[in-house]
Amino acid sequence: MNVKIDPDLCTGCALCTDSVPDVFRMGNDVAEVINAKVAPEFEKAVKDAAADCPAEAIIVE
Ligand code: SF4
Repeated sequence: MNVKIDPDLCTGCALCTDSVPDVFRMGNDVAEVINAKVAPEFEKAVKDAAADCPAEAIIVE
């Protein structure tokens, strides 16, 4: 599973970086993905973060 963040949509609310810090971190103004390839143990948390993102900026593929 792969994940990316659309920087044009992300508002930098830090919800995802707080909930899954092993996968997401804050960049300058918006969140970014540490590693686009999601480890199996984080897949559910990443899917939940994508569902919870208020800007719908997290794209899971
Ligand atoms: S939850 Fe969504 S809007 Fe908030 S920092 Fe993460 S990607 Fe950006």
